[in-house]
Amino acid sequence: RWEGEAEIDYVFKVVVVGDSAVGKTQLLARFTRDEFALDSKSTIGVEFQARTLTLHRKRVKAQIWDTAGQERAVTSAYYRGALGAMVVYDVTRRATFEHVSRWVEELRAHADGSTVVALIGNKADMPAARREVAADEAARLAEEQGLFFSEASALTGDNVERAFLTLLEEVFAVVS
Ligand code: GDP
Repeated sequence: RWEGEAEIDYVFKVVVVGDSAVGKTQLLARFTRDEFALDSKSTIGVEFQARTLTLHRKRVKAQIWDTAGQERAVTSAYYRGALGAMVVYDVTRRATFEHVSRWVEELRAHADGSTVVALIGNKADMPAARREVAADEAARLAEEQGLFFSEASALTGDNVERAFLTLLEEVFAVVS
């Protein structure tokens, strides 16, 4: 390593969970590559993408894990060592919101007790007529469960950076 080369101070594992097709893969692509891929799901099985950023003058590598379409087969290995988690639902599909508590329970069962959890209502770009979950209802659930909450859109990029950064800041506060 030569003088001046960026050094990694922390690696933060963050897992993204939620029902199929809520936009987990696209949120991850948006945050790590600022992309919205039209042909997602080319790979099968668990994988992660990384992005390195500076928080409080420390180099932090955020390692964001995606279930890559294997939601039903997520195992404890997926959650192991996760410092942060995003539970994602789709604001246009009520059922995906109804399942949020189940995902939070699964997280609490498998991940560490100190894992920071964010609730994300994705596809906020969709027309109001298509909406099946109101933001204030989700905010209430998040408050009850002690989660950070934000709506976001992987398609437009709205709030995606902010949601991940807030989560990473929270993780930073826990580990540092
Ligand atoms: P995953 O199964 O949870 O990983 O979901 P994907 O990321 O594969 O997305 C599922 C579908 O929703 C795809 O057709 C995406 O193009 C679409 N999608 C994902 N995010 C958004 C979003 O923010 N807005 C809209 N309108 N569509 C989205």
